[in-house]
Amino acid sequence: MPDTREPSVATARIALLVAPGRPLELRDAPVPPLGGGEVLVRIVACAVCGSDLHTARGRRPHPLPTILGHEITGTVVALGSGAGVVDVAGAAVACGDRVTWSVCASCGECDRCRGGLPQKCRRLLKYGHVSNDDHPLAGGFASHIVLRCGTAIVRLPAGLSADAAATASCAVATAAAILRVGGGARGRSVIVLGAGMLGLSVVSQAMACGASSVTVVESRPDRLELARAVAPTANTVPWPGDPAALERLFGGVMLTDGADLVIEAGGTAELVQAAVRLVATGGTCVLAGTVAPVGDVAIDPERLVRRQATIHGVHNYLPEDLAAAVVHLASPTGAALAALAGPAMPLESINEALVAAAGTAVRVVVTP
Ligand SMILES: [Zn+2]
Ligand SMILES: [Zn+2]
Repeated sequence: MPDTREPSVATARIALLVAPGRPLELRDAPVPPLGGGEVLVRIVACAVCGSDLHTARGRRPHPLPTILGHEITGTVVALGSGAGVVDVAGAAVACGDRVTWSVCASCGECDRCRGGLPQKCRRLLKYGHVSNDDHPLAGGFASHIVLRCGTAIVRLPAGLSADAAATASCAVATAAAILRVGGGARGRSVIVLGAGMLGLSVVSQAMACGASSVTVVESRPDRLELARAVAPTANTVPWPGDPAALERLFGGVMLTDGADLVIEAGGTAELVQAAVRLVATGGTCVLAGTVAPVGDVAIDPERLVRRQATIHGVHNYLPEDLAAAVVHLASPTGAALAALAGPAMPLESINEALVAAAGTAVRVVVTP
């Protein structure tokens, strides 16, 4: 198939992080020639993730200069030459398709890809996490992006807005992976520790999957309020200050033997400790919130042995999880979660958008 790019798409507008702690710089950049199997997408929406804020402020190492943003939706405007590109369902991708895609592009050939962990590919490219010099147009705070080979592409249903769908490729898909790895939520008691976008996504999907109960623990009252909006029948518990206090609270009031599935989605050492303490006999604990160092965490191994408990770590997701995330956001049970996207702000106001994202909004959306 020839490069079918519109002749008009010669330059893209990008917001470039040149140095940590500095405002992003808006520039025009040439659109590179498409390689075989690559896809040029005109970005419609890119949600601001907490990790974007950490990187912009220089709180974690990152290749520079870079285009941040990895929770993206857009419209296909050109296809590279070679064999046709297909989406996760195996259907050909065509110009005009409304799509989202995996945060990672994987080689499909290394031991990890072949072993079922493409998100840990040895030649991984992660959108919004690479140098723009090495990988031009690979981030979401821009007018266009080039999707590389090995990207899982998912078409958007007609009823799902681009803004809402932008959250699929990070928190919502990771939540789908958490529930898959954790053995599913149907008929099980579920505790979710932390109610940021990841925790809220778990709560919404656990409810939709038919969990027998869902309990959310969170220190911020505004986030507990969001949890009630996402899942009105969920139990909401203010974080009592330490893991032992939380265990006493649950032991005395809600559960005699912990929960079948406990998910840590907050990223602190105390929440990890609490998660391990709360898992029931035969139950599963999934740790997913800790994506920055928190130091060593003390756990009681005897408790885990006697309870025959399982602990999993989950980071990112498989293509099938992204497809499930999009289906969930488009479903009636996912509508309240989808409604968390916003407010929308223009790319030209990217630095104001980052400030807004550091406030109470769960997912500010940048629109070129
Ligand atoms: Zn993210
Ligand atoms: Zn690989």
